[in-house]
Amino acid sequence: MSESQTSNPQGHQENELARIPRRTPMACSFCRGRKLKCDGRQTCGNCERRGIPCVYVPVSAQQK
Ligand SMILES: [Zn+2]
Ligand SMILES: [Zn+2]
Repeated sequence: MSESQTSNPQGHQENELARIPRRTPMACSFCRGRKLKCDGRQTCGNCERRGIPCVYVPVSAQQK
């Protein structure tokens, strides 16, 4: 039996295109307005430290 690297699925990559492409970094309105780096959590670190509600506005709702 000349089994050489048969269990190595090289070249077989999961195509993640089926998922929703995150072309825009998810940043809350506060971080986006202040040009801050948003960690994208439900309540990001910047809002959490300031104790303000973290609001995420959809890109489609932006008028800019
Ligand atoms: Zn943020
Ligand atoms: Zn935030």
